Amino acid sequence: MVYVPSEHSSSTYGKGMENALSNTTTAGLSTETKINIPFNHNLTTNQELEYIREALLSGRTSGDGSFTKKCKAWLEQQTGCASALITHSCTAALEMAAILANIQPGDEVIMPSYTFVSTANAFVLRGGVPVFVDIRPDTLNIDETCIEAAITSRTKAIAPVHYAGVSCEMNAIMAIAQEHDLLVIEDAAQAISAQYHGKPVGTMGHMSALSFHETKNIMSGEGGALLINDRTLLERAEIIREKGTNRSKFFRGELDKYTWVDVGSSYLPSDLIAAFLLAQLEQSEYLLKRRGDIWNYYHETFAVLEAQGLVRRPQIPAHCQHNGHIYYLIVQDLETRTALMAHLKAKGIQSTFHYVPLHSAPAGLKYGRAVGSMEHTDRLSDCLIRLPLGSAMSMQEATQVSTAVLEFLLP
Ligand SMILES: *Cc1c(COP(=O)(O)O)cnc(C)c1O
Repeated sequence: MVYVPSEHSSSTYGKGMENALSNTTTAGLSTETKINIPFNHNLTTNQELEYIREALLSGRTSGDGSFTKKCKAWLEQQTGCASALITHSCTAALEMAAILANIQPGDEVIMPSYTFVSTANAFVLRGGVPVFVDIRPDTLNIDETCIEAAITSRTKAIAPVHYAGVSCEMNAIMAIAQEHDLLVIEDAAQAISAQYHGKPVGTMGHMSALSFHETKNIMSGEGGALLINDRTLLERAEIIREKGTNRSKFFRGELDKYTWVDVGSSYLPSDLIAAFLLAQLEQSEYLLKRRGDIWNYYHETFAVLEAQGLVRRPQIPAHCQHNGHIYYLIVQDLETRTALMAHLKAKGIQSTFHYVPLHSAPAGLKYGRAVGSMEHTDRLSDCLIRLPLGSAMSMQEATQVSTAVLEFLLP
């Protein structure tokens, strides 16, 4: 296969990304500095267009066509999950998970506050209550030792988020879930191809949600998948995804007509999107390698800053294999971060920070509650800066970024 980078592959220039990731914020994009190095620049190749053309010419562009089936098979084969249901976003997959988990008004779901809004919203839409706990200072993942104190008689599920494609402590989390009879719904939006003790991330909980948003490692513009690991959820998952009907069974010839049997909605992507996604999945090794090379370059280059106590670099536990989704630095304080982002911006380098913690956000206060100290969440969300990273980024661009960071931070 020939890989031909296309220059316009990811248009996260300017305002678009702020809309896409609402509790993520880019550096003052309102003014007119030219962006030379965008925050997110992912590679597409001729293969995406080739498959999209094929899907168009087939005359079959709605959901669950041949490309959707191939994406499903690819994910099932790679992860070993019982079923991979392709959706139009990770948000949609999380909403399906909330319905599957039978979340009723007042039911509680324990999750980190340091996450994207969709982790919480999916449950709030069903009347559920997000119960926020703090994160670990090393991986920025949910602190598994905070979970038990947050369990009440209303707790239904735990929603760990694998931040930056580094797995949460799933052995501990699954043990707690088993003891208290809770479901585990993994927000694996950032974690495709990551591993925990050699197991694919997204296959340890009862179900997990992946994202193929433009900003993720593997993308289809918008896109997602719900991986089902608990086979007892399989039949209902198909029904929820097909507007509450048993149409999937009908299409397989298992029924002679299909009908409305449960609640549901439309969670299928068009086969045009699946065509885009299949091309990306098939090249995933190459795309992840390109990202990983930049991640490793940054990591080595910034060792000198960490040695001098000026920043903290990402920490990857030995039993976790990450996927290079995010490169971040933790700087001393909010002032340093603001000044560093301005310095980068003046050089045409786009950087971002996240997350505005959910527990203290207006909707978080209204719909959820926090348990225990949020010390790490609050501090790290003030001090974390994300550097440009994407499969279309060149080493030369990475060098420009690291030079600008070093010249600002080194005394
Ligand atoms: C990107 C992301 C989502 C949302 O993904 P979409 O596909 O845009 O709906 C949810 N959770 C986390 C942690 C994410 O990073």
